[in-house]
Amino acid sequence: MSTLEIHDLQVSVKLPDGDLKPILAGVDLTVRSGETHAIMGPNGSGKSTLAYSIAGHPKYEITGGTVTLDGEDVLAMTVDERARAGLFLAMQYPVEVPGVSVANFLRTAKTAIDGEAPKLRTWAGELRGAMEKLQMDPAFAQRNVNEGFSGGEKKRHEIMQLELLKPKMAILDETDSGLDIDALRIVSEGVNRVRASGEAGLLLITHYTRILRYIKPDFVHVFVAGKIVKEGGPELAEQLEAEGYERYVASANA
Ligand code: ADP
Ligand code: MG
Ligand code: MG
Repeated sequence: MSTLEIHDLQVSVKLPDGDLKPILAGVDLTVRSGETHAIMGPNGSGKSTLAYSIAGHPKYEITGGTVTLDGEDVLAMTVDERARAGLFLAMQYPVEVPGVSVANFLRTAKTAIDGEAPKLRTWAGELRGAMEKLQMDPAFAQRNVNEGFSGGEKKRHEIMQLELLKPKMAILDETDSGLDIDALRIVSEGVNRVRASGEAGLLLITHYTRILRYIKPDFVHVFVAGKIVKEGGPELAEQLEAEGYERYVASANA
């Protein structure tokens, strides 16, 4: 049983001229194992900033508040330590990793997180199984990470990591963007398998409502102008689908 606790988080982005531009204006959020939370909000509201801040991206400066995982100070950890502590951030490795195959990348990540290398025979089976469930060509395992990946392949690779690395908390930022309807279903099924295990807490960040037709969140948070302005259950996602964000944007600007 794990708890990710975000309290009054304030974050600025570091601009090229050295100035700080405040983005997150005090975010409070608690995610426990087995829970699925959706953060939804318009473009530019700071959703990715929240994800990058928890990931430890150097472009963002924490100016206030706390993030803890089971009481441990996440903000004091290096990016590697965050992964070892059980945090999974889908945007953590968005770049090409020249010369490193998907199979080697995943095994190295698994070894780093678990502190020991997975047994070769069981690992090969797990890798094959994860790829089959995501309907991926076995040849994908030998490709270099992110090199020439299509949008759908990137997302499937993300979900493969999620299923194989078995994190305590996973943050998925715009996992639905760029997916056609079949890929969206396959990716959603992967997320739902992780969810059904009950072992991970999931934070899905999106500005579309469509992924929430496939993954039913337990909690929905509306994110506008750097903070959560409304919270509810799955019915809130349906209301947003019907009405959009306008009323929340209007009251945030009032
Ligand atoms: P979202 O994910 O909700 O679309 P972001 O977190 O990407 O929002 O961005 C929030 C705000 O921060 C936006 O106004 C965006 O323009 C600004 N921002 C993010 N990164 C930078 C950056 N590197 N330089 C300048 N502004 C940035
Ligand atoms: Mg954006
Ligand atoms: Mg974003």
